Amino acid sequence: MWQPMRAWCLLALMAGAPAAAQVGAGVQADAVSQQLVVARAAELYAERLAVLREGHALDVHGAVLERVRRVAGGLIAQARRDYPDSAAWAWELHVTTDEGQTADGMAGGKMLVGEAYLERLDITDAELAMLLAHEIAHAVLRHNLLEYQLALRLDPGWAPRPFLALEDAVENDRALIARLAPQGLAQEAEADREGLLLAWRAGWPAARLANYFKKLARASGQPYFDSATHPSPASRWAAARALAAGLGAPAGPPAGQK
Ligand SMILES: [Zn+2]
Repeated sequence: MWQPMRAWCLLALMAGAPAAAQVGAGVQADAVSQQLVVARAAELYAERLAVLREGHALDVHGAVLERVRRVAGGLIAQARRDYPDSAAWAWELHVTTDEGQTADGMAGGKMLVGEAYLERLDITDAELAMLLAHEIAHAVLRHNLLEYQLALRLDPGWAPRPFLALEDAVENDRALIARLAPQGLAQEAEADREGLLLAWRAGWPAARLANYFKKLARASGQPYFDSATHPSPASRWAAARALAAGLGAPAGPPAGQK
């Protein structure tokens, strides 16, 4: 999943966060840049973590946090090699006991994983690597920035308006969301593909990575239906299986494998 920025912002507002100056305030939409998107993501991520911490739902179980960070460590090292721009990012990963949380990634390598989600899938380390690599792929491929840039191309009227208004529209304006949806679906497929390849290069066997999508399909009530934001679980599983079948053994053992 690629976390809508605005959803986290609203959560923070509902929790009564103080109205501090926001990153991007006063910036025109057509001045959006990777630097701005990363800075804004860091701000929203910090707000989300603060809400969870306040609710005693952040990093509650040290063993779960250690496991997720161990698996992520090798993937992030691989991402830093393959996507040098990301080497300087302040990568961050936390876990939450919030029952509704699956896994989210934000620009600049900010990730949040739900413990209950991992338990529901009875997830193995390799499947966890696939889940995390998908989120890492969204970040290193700059999917958030590309979404804003597409919105500006679709409707140049946004150019002189405030960036924060565009951010809000991308998350809440149903007409704009519908126009962005085809690119969003393509980004999900790209994050599946490039995430799997990244994790394979980091040393994880491709077939075991692809198995994550089998579990997703089995856990889904409607495995053959595309959602508004994601290709159907069954099609993701088929694509991952086909990709994995064409890959050989990984070059070496994965960092982060027990
Ligand atoms: Zn995604």
